[in-house]
Amino acid sequence: MTTPGTTATHGDRGPADVIEVDDRLGRTYPGARTELDHRDAFELLVATVLSAQTTDVRVNSLTPELFSRWPDAAALAGADEEQVTALLRPLGMGGTRAARIIGLAQGLLRDHSGQVPDDQEALEALPGVGRKTAYVVRGTWFGHSLLAVDTHVARLSRRLGWTGSKDPVKVETDVVALVEQAATGSHGKGGSEEIDLTALHLRLILHGRRVCLARAPQCGTCVLADICPSAEVA
Ligand code: SF4
Repeated sequence: MTTPGTTATHGDRGPADVIEVDDRLGRTYPGARTELDHRDAFELLVATVLSAQTTDVRVNSLTPELFSRWPDAAALAGADEEQVTALLRPLGMGGTRAARIIGLAQGLLRDHSGQVPDDQEALEALPGVGRKTAYVVRGTWFGHSLLAVDTHVARLSRRLGWTGSKDPVKVETDVVALVEQAATGSHGKGGSEEIDLTALHLRLILHGRRVCLARAPQCGTCVLADICPSAEVA
């Protein structure tokens, strides 16, 4: 591929070895965790829903007050929508976001006694919760190995040669297949290493935010430059 601002790439290199990428990013971002502040599954779920089309930093600037005033599903389910809208207005679409998280809290209260279920289908049945949000909560809170595909994970997966798709489910399918091949020794180093997909997802996000930027990837300082098929050729 040709990345913005570059004239040539190492496209003849083939896909970057997924085990090597995970290993290098693991050393670059030790202890990678979600950048959304939270103290429990409820807060993580609400913060993840709020993070759509805005930044984690902006969400983190508002959630302390949000969770101070409405600390659990029961409280948020009965919240005054205008008050929640006013609090969320700095994120943009305050009314839409308020209705979304109040509806989510009502769904949790109605269907799960206010608790966040560790169940993909049950989570996706809740208002405002899709596959990616459910993966984030089940992966980072409940400890499952899941590749939640957001814009960073999708972009890096394409640049690393792991997929040619922009469809999140197809990206996930392609990357998980590569990881499984690597784990069984039919690809990459031929080893039997197991990759935690949740950790890989968090590492790719951090790398996408800090180095492999959408418009101006910093290939010159990237720890993957010698194995990435999209690394800029000087
Ligand atoms: S920043 Fe790194 S991962 Fe992104 S395109 Fe450049 S070399 Fe590849």
